[in-house]
Amino acid sequence: MGDFLSMGLNPRVLRAVAAMGFEEPTPVQQQTIPRLLQGVDLVVQAQTGTGKTAAYGIPLAQRVKAGDPHVQALVLAPTRELTLQVAEQLAQLTQFLGVYVLPVYGGQSYDHQIRSLRRGVQIVVATPGRLLDLMDKRVLSLEQARFVVLDEADEMLDMGFQEDVERILSRTPQERQTSLFSATMPDPILRLATRYLSQPERIILSQPRALTVPTVSQSYFLMHLQFKVEALTRILDTRAPELALVFCATKRMVADLGRELQGRGYHAEALHGDMTQGQREAVMQATRAGQVEVLVATDVAARGLDIPEVSHVINFDIPQESDSYVHRIGRTARAGRAGEAITLVTPRELSLLRAIESALGTPIRHEPLPAVAELEERERQGMAAHLRQVLLEGQWADFRPLVEGLSEQHDPLDIAAAAVSLAYGPARLRPEIPQITPAEVAPTRATYAPRRRFGRGRRR
Ligand code: AMP
Repeated sequence: MGDFLSMGLNPRVLRAVAAMGFEEPTPVQQQTIPRLLQGVDLVVQAQTGTGKTAAYGIPLAQRVKAGDPHVQALVLAPTRELTLQVAEQLAQLTQFLGVYVLPVYGGQSYDHQIRSLRRGVQIVVATPGRLLDLMDKRVLSLEQARFVVLDEADEMLDMGFQEDVERILSRTPQERQTSLFSATMPDPILRLATRYLSQPERIILSQPRALTVPTVSQSYFLMHLQFKVEALTRILDTRAPELALVFCATKRMVADLGRELQGRGYHAEALHGDMTQGQREAVMQATRAGQVEVLVATDVAARGLDIPEVSHVINFDIPQESDSYVHRIGRTARAGRAGEAITLVTPRELSLLRAIESALGTPIRHEPLPAVAELEERERQGMAAHLRQVLLEGQWADFRPLVEGLSEQHDPLDIAAAAVSLAYGPARLRPEIPQITPAEVAPTRATYAPRRRFGRGRRR
């Protein structure tokens, strides 16, 4: 805890930090916490998974006054999921202080929010729309809000919240401290910062160029469109992910692929915008409980999800923009864990992949698809290990007379093989996927014209 100790934090905040299992500040925390404690406005470029929530949460815990029932701090976030996660983390950070944190988002009953606010809430974490609603209803006032944090600001603007965010900021005191966190820093974000922050300092931890965390291994597989599902299952079978987050381009494809994987016997779930809140929550709960091995989602649905143990991010559809690639792969290798990012690429999409590589400044490794023989070998090894275990445990003696009887007419090896086939089912038929190498794909114009945004027309 050396570095947290030297930050001059309140012992109750330190106790909460220790209770949360944080031993050392992450790089973003090291840079951000001291400056925020000094009252400086900050623009911080950091992705989810870097510890950015505590980077602003610890200073908030330190500076909010428990005895004062007014809303003193506001965190704005793009989605309900992120709002809930942030509120939970802030509640943990303030657990020994008697400070109350309220998440505010659409779809929740007004009653509960109104009652909490009446009792006194020091920190509000909100999505912009519902917050404005409560302000317009005069249930919530930000006149005493001394701290404002804009979290995932790029996502908020992408989701069309710019006007709402500006209206909210204009209804907070002039002399507030404002900080802005964003994974990317496009111009609209910088303009927002110039307009609403006071002489902000900029902290950059994840420029797109150096952004990929070294623990994320990035590779891609090349195949024709009709083999994508087969390729995905082959990757899942050889990688055996703890939890894979699979991205598809559209809601429809998410639903279809989810069903297809379930049909093939994977513990797969889909997450997309057409699902009810209840359905989404059920999926998230099952995922957190470790019951899901593959979570299929769109970019929008995956935004703000906090699933720290994603071992693999798989782009079933290659993202159209490098920013989106960065966001997606940021979901794995969080908090220092190792992770793997895999992209499925059809020959037509190879130029998109090249453009992402240029924008990132790092090559993405091509890998040949696992061959059928490799998978079968793995399966055989698994069965052999299982059988050795059963033999060792000696629970089969009851069946010996049966085998003895059969062995009068059949070869004992044949009998054993038949028993294995009975236990594991017939060998799975897997089509060979034609291997394509990058060198075989004819180059297209886009190969040497990397841009952040690509036209929609180029995809099939
Ligand atoms: P965030 O970037 O805020 O989404 O945080 C990612 C994850 O890292 C969360 O699950 C945090 O609980 C965890 N975390 C944040 N700060 C630390 C720290 N100093 N040490 C260990 N884990 C941390």
